[in-house]
Amino acid sequence: MKTITIAKGDGIGPEIMDATLKIIKASGAAVQFDEIMVGEKVYLSGNTSGIQPQAWQSILTNKVLLKAPITTPQGGGYKSLNVSIRKTLGLFANVRPCKSLHPFVSTLHPNMDVVIIRENEEDLYGGIEHQQTDEVVQCLKLISRPGCERIIRYAFEYAKAYGRKKVACFVKDNIMKQTDGLFHKVFDEISKEYPSIESKHLIVDIGAARLANQPELFDVIVMPNLYGDILSDVAAEITGSVGLAGSANIGSSCAMFEAIHGSAPDIAGKNMANPSGLIQAAVLMLNHIGENEAASSIQNAWLTTIEDGIHTADIHKPGISKQLVGTKEFGEAVIERL
Ligand code: NAD
Repeated sequence: MKTITIAKGDGIGPEIMDATLKIIKASGAAVQFDEIMVGEKVYLSGNTSGIQPQAWQSILTNKVLLKAPITTPQGGGYKSLNVSIRKTLGLFANVRPCKSLHPFVSTLHPNMDVVIIRENEEDLYGGIEHQQTDEVVQCLKLISRPGCERIIRYAFEYAKAYGRKKVACFVKDNIMKQTDGLFHKVFDEISKEYPSIESKHLIVDIGAARLANQPELFDVIVMPNLYGDILSDVAAEITGSVGLAGSANIGSSCAMFEAIHGSAPDIAGKNMANPSGLIQAAVLMLNHIGENEAASSIQNAWLTTIEDGIHTADIHKPGISKQLVGTKEFGEAVIERL
């Protein structure tokens, strides 16, 4: 029996995690859970890292973390726990599949099936920020050749493994010639090693516009950290809701799985949140640990629930949806279909 470290997080985190854990248990997956405390409660107890020291031991022992979103309090020297986890565990690749569920979920783009692969440790998220003077602050953009090689090779290997035909690279190297220029250069070099996969480069602003308007043009897209963070939310929203997408954060020994969205304080505690993002993260996690049967039965039951028109408020549309349900009821509907 494999032990998974879990963190229920803040805001809607506990609600979506409870629904997701019930589904995993009902699927018969051979897993058990070890819960750790992270997020707001830990921050507000005076620990500016947002994670208790003993929680790291659980993650390092189990090597797999399923994490609900957390709230990072503003100011006060609080460090982003998401960034700390990715950097401490060396989770260099962030994989975010975004697929249209047309005609069951309303979207303008029926044929969208995009996987965004985001570099997860460098770029403007490297945490190199300085107060220069009282009125000037600086954040440094860090891009390294080894970092580019690892994420770009990962994107091409991912495309090969999942039978995907195209890999695009989005950067802004017309302006940031050195940093984004290096990412683009390494992309061109590595793409030559994969002649059967079509590769192309777009400046990120026009790439973003095309992704919003013609997402069917894209298959796998690899990007530096900041663009990937922003555009994966855009991509998920295009499929119908940010609440629909999960992500895998992969390193050489540990991995972390989470929904792509945040803790949604505006709907927390109201049984309104869509647990699908965390359910999708759980499916990615079960596949990662070799529980493929449980992963496919959850995926099929989740798709059937959506196809049956059982929808949470974020994706509910009169004429398309059949039943408006809360977080808990959506989870129960998935379990009924396992
Ligand atoms: P958010 O993603 O939490 O919410 C944005 C909007 O989307 C809100 O209107 C929210 O109600 C809606 N939404 C998000 N998830 C939903 C779901 N599952 N079902 C239905 N609707 C959903 O973004 P935000 O409001 O900018 O951030 C809130 C907090 O989350 C901040 O403290 C931020 O730092 C944190 N955050 C955490 C993570 C993480 O832990 N991985 C990621 C992003 C943001």
